[in-house]
Amino acid sequence: MIRLENIQRRYVSDEVETTALADINLDVAAGEFVAIMGPSGCGKSTLLNTLGTVDRPTAGRYLFGDRDLVALNEAELARFRAMTLGFVFQSFNLIDELTIAENVELGLIYRKDAGGDRKGRVAAAMDRVGISHRARHYPHQLSGGQQQRAAIARAIVGEPKLILADEPTGNLDTENGQQVMDILTSLNADGATIIMVTHSPSHADIARRRIDMLDGRIVASLARAI
Ligand code: ADP
Ligand code: ADP
Repeated sequence: MIRLENIQRRYVSDEVETTALADINLDVAAGEFVAIMGPSGCGKSTLLNTLGTVDRPTAGRYLFGDRDLVALNEAELARFRAMTLGFVFQSFNLIDELTIAENVELGLIYRKDAGGDRKGRVAAAMDRVGISHRARHYPHQLSGGQQQRAAIARAIVGEPKLILADEPTGNLDTENGQQVMDILTSLNADGATIIMVTHSPSHADIARRRIDMLDGRIVASLARAI
């Protein structure tokens, strides 16, 4: 489903050049659950942002299915993201002024095909992550674990092909972190492809493949025996 070929990402500021991604080659098949690990600054977020098309590589090719994403303009990429991707962040990124149900509905807002049964789809997504009883509450009225589950509902309400999660358990205690991992595991079992950055070795073990990064490169890729 995904192929990265010789992806590079360099930043230049004040004449200092940083190579965030040196030479990334990566294939991810539909239905995989991949964890990305590595020390701070090794390029994990840049890789996830590249996969999410919110950061453009300075060289290399990004193929998604049979499409070459590097060739798309910003409007085409925005549409691709809305139709194909779901994002989950460490800090939840819910909108404080909107209720949980309204936040979840944001996941449908740029989807043309979501016309008819929007409320039904929002209700189903909230039910899936166990926050239906919080639909009319505002984010600050929820615990961190509940907020992250709401953010996952927003990510999945449009039924994305690929879920990108950047340290989704990083701000959660052990129990809430495990709940989030259980939800991701269940979504993967139902066919969602997931790529997740994590600092937790035990959470990486839950994924079916673990990729280790160092200095902008992939230095190991290990599939778990099932
Ligand atoms: P966080 O870990 O808080 O999410 P970021 O993802 O914003 O941090 O940044 C990760 C790394 O990238 C940090 O080391 C930060 O200093 C560096 N960085 C981010 N943005 C810039 C920038 N505009 N110029 C230079 N370095 C940056
Ligand atoms: P990680 O997510 O593994 O902590 P990042 O992808 O955030 O790593 O960063 C990789 C490297 O790129 C780091 O050296 C970081 O400082 C640098 N970097 C990230 N974003 C920027 C930016 N916007 N401008 C300059 N350097 C950046």
